[in-house]
Amino acid sequence: MNPKKIEDKLAVNKFDVDQEVHIRIKEDICCQCKELDCLYACPAGCFTVFEDHITFSFEGCLECGSCRIVCEKEAIDWTLPRAGFGICYLYG
Ligand code: SF4
Ligand code: SF4
Repeated sequence: MNPKKIEDKLAVNKFDVDQEVHIRIKEDICCQCKELDCLYACPAGCFTVFEDHITFSFEGCLECGSCRIVCEKEAIDWTLPRAGFGICYLYG
């Protein structure tokens, strides 16, 4: 298989999701954010807009750190999952 699209590349990853949340957004800051840089930076689509606010789910996180870098308001508490959990690349 020679994946070309991002969906194909994501499909060959395996996740062992850490039930302990390792990334949190500060909703009091995010609800006032107009830039929504995290929405456009996250390659895994972990950020979405629901009605008029941003929502986040960490389960598909690729651990790239892009959201933490692009958010100029420092509204993301970010750590890696615990050892043994998270993404396993190119598994398929
Ligand atoms: S995480 Fe940062 S960029 Fe994303 S909505 Fe919140 S404040 Fe805005
Ligand atoms: S670390 Fe990367 S994949 Fe995970 S939520 Fe942030 S931008 Fe998305």
